[in-house]
Amino acid sequence: MLLEHLSAKLRTIEAQSLTRFLRQAESVTAPRQQVRANDGRTRELLMFCSNDYLGLAAEPQIHAALIEGVRLYGGGSGASPLVSGHSRAHEQVAETLATMLSPHIPQARALGFCTGYMANLAVVTALGEEGAEIFSESWNHASLIDGTRLARAEVKRYGHADVAGLRELLAASRAKIKLIVTDAVFSMDGDLAPLPELLALAEEFDAWLIVDDAHGFGVLGEQGRGSLEHFNLRSERLILVGTLGKAAGLAGAFVLAHATITEYLLQAARNYIFSTASPPAVEHALLTSFALISGELGQSRRARLRLLQARLRQGIEALLQRHPALGWRLSPSDSPVQPLIIGGNAEVMALAARLEAGGIRVPGIRPPTVPKGEARLRITLCATHTEADVDELVAALAAAARDMDKAAA
Ligand SMILES: *Cc1c(COP(=O)(O)O)cnc(C)c1O
Repeated sequence: MLLEHLSAKLRTIEAQSLTRFLRQAESVTAPRQQVRANDGRTRELLMFCSNDYLGLAAEPQIHAALIEGVRLYGGGSGASPLVSGHSRAHEQVAETLATMLSPHIPQARALGFCTGYMANLAVVTALGEEGAEIFSESWNHASLIDGTRLARAEVKRYGHADVAGLRELLAASRAKIKLIVTDAVFSMDGDLAPLPELLALAEEFDAWLIVDDAHGFGVLGEQGRGSLEHFNLRSERLILVGTLGKAAGLAGAFVLAHATITEYLLQAARNYIFSTASPPAVEHALLTSFALISGELGQSRRARLRLLQARLRQGIEALLQRHPALGWRLSPSDSPVQPLIIGGNAEVMALAARLEAGGIRVPGIRPPTVPKGEARLRITLCATHTEADVDELVAALAAAARDMDKAAA
């Protein structure tokens, strides 16, 4: 019965061109990667899909630090942090993050998690207690949405970047604890939340601003401290969540906030308390990652990212001008996430398949991850892409656009 039920659901998913499937990476995470496809064949693909924006996953200094970490600490952490899983490396990571971000959140402490998903669930559920009110931006990441579903607080959604709408909701709220929850860089669109305006509202209405900087940490700001540095924000009311599996090139996540908040999370957040701490060797390597992000390598890679972004946007905008009838559009993004909105599910998947047949992997993103009719190619850039890589993608897109225009004529 269950199997029949699920098989029917799977058929529905397939009929909507929504089936997802795994590919198998067989070499280092990098712009050119060996990938094994569904047909069992392995070949090199030019990847525009990882969130390893600075190319640190392939960085030899990080590999060496990981190996050193294994020598120092061995394999797994063995237990949850409050039992025995919290190593010196975990402590050093928390201290380093607190120092890095001290210009933006005074008296801050950091608390580590294995994934950003967990960190988001922890902060939203622990702070979103009964009687509190959560104001949730409508384009938020799934992990924040799941947090609001699990929280006992009342949840109000506000429209994308709709500061005026949020203001009305805050003005009408009688809750003692008010939490504004937002992605800093929207993961499927690449645009930035209006954080200065949101923080001003938080201050005006005695609310707190939870910022998920999964795609900003390491990438934005002169020192790579993320969106708070980009906007030059400083406030006790900021609660920052960062992931370390993206630009930091490893794995893990953190919540960084006023020490009273992190202390409360340590006492009360179930997904902190009841989950095994990350491997200490990974934490040890994160220290190297932070040094690279803050240092010269990070600076030059951020500069390269901006260069590649501009080149990609120019190339795509030119091809969109040549093929207006296709109705494709490029999201106004200032980050390495550069989505090309195509429209229909089948259409975007056919385009992604065509690119992949030509050796380029760009994932098609469909509903429910994005709104219906806005299926897209989510192009992500890494600092280790070359100009020629970007040109190759633009040329492949241009060839596809030409063929589709011809077919329609
Ligand atoms: C990837 C992502 C997360 C989850 O982080 P993980 O460490 O991958 O679990 C959270 N929020 C946003 C906006 C993300 O893009």
